[in-house]
Amino acid sequence: TPAIRIRDLVKRYAQAGSQSGEGKLALGGVSFDVPQGQIFGLLGPNGAGKSTLINTLAGLVMKSSGTVEIWGFDIDKEPRNAKASIGIVPQEIVFDPFFTPLEVLDIQAGLYGVPAPARRSLELLKSVHLADKAHAYARSLSGGMKRRLLIAKAMVHTPPILVLDEPTAGVDVELRRLLWELVVDLNNQGVTIVLTTHYLEEAEQLCDRIAIINHGRLITDQPTRDLVGMM
Ligand code: ADP
Ligand code: ADP
Repeated sequence: TPAIRIRDLVKRYAQAGSQSGEGKLALGGVSFDVPQGQIFGLLGPNGAGKSTLINTLAGLVMKSSGTVEIWGFDIDKEPRNAKASIGIVPQEIVFDPFFTPLEVLDIQAGLYGVPAPARRSLELLKSVHLADKAHAYARSLSGGMKRRLLIAKAMVHTPPILVLDEPTAGVDVELRRLLWELVVDLNNQGVTIVLTTHYLEEAEQLCDRIAIINHGRLITDQPTRDLVGMM
C-alpha cells in the first residue's frame, strides 16, 4: 500500500458572491501515490494548489471530488483512522502565547487520545532541540523554535506520515539546514515525509521523489534523480 494514494482529486472553491456555482478551480484532477518510507516533494509556484492539496489531506479543505487514501484508509469512509495516520505541520504558526512547549505537546496528545503513560512530550522536545525551553512561554520562543515546536506537535500521536507545508518559507539559511536535518532524522526513523516547497533546490537536495504541480494540475511525478537529469 502506498503511504498516500490520490486519485482524480478536484477542488473548486466557492466564489464569494457568485450565483453560478463557478468557483476557482484549485485542483483540476490530480492523481499520484506517495510510496512508504520516502521523502516526497510537492513542488510548484505560488497559487499552484499545494496548500489546497495539503489541507485536503489534513481534513481542513473538503474536496469537490476524487479519492484520497492515507495509509490505506479512505478519508471519507475511515476519517479517524486516516487522521491517526498523519501528522500535519501547517504553514502558519499558531500557539497560545501563555502555554509552554511541554503544555502544547501534552494538550495535543490529549486531543489525539494518547494515554498519559504513552506520552513522550519531553522526548519529542529533545528531538527538535527544544528541551531547554520546555517550560518557557510560547510567546518567548523565536520563530525558528516555534517552527520546531510545530514539528514536535505534529508527531505526538506517532503517525507514520508527516506532512510539512512550506517548512522553510522565509527562514534563514541556518534554520533551513536544521529543519532539513530534522526531516531527514525523522525519515531515517521510518517516517514517510511529504513536503511542499517552491524551491527546486530544496526539493532536489532533500526529496527521493518530486511531483510538480502548476495551475492545479500534475506536470510530472518521478524520482528526483530522473528529474534532475531532465532539467
Ligand atoms: P500560499 O503561501 O500557499 O501561496 P496563499 O497566500 O495563496 O498561501 O493563501 C493564504 C491563505 O489564504 C490560505 O489559507 C488560502 O486558503 C487563502 N486564500 C488564498 N487565495 C484565496 C482566495 N482567492 N480567496 C480566499 N482565500 C484565499
Ligand atoms: P499554493 O499553496 O500552491 O500557493 P493554493 O492551494 O494556496 O496554492 O491556491 C491554489 C489556488 O486556489 C489559488 O488560485 C488560490 O488563490 C486559490 N485559493 C486558495 N484558497 C482559497 C480559498 N479559501 N478560497 C478561494 N480560492 C482559494
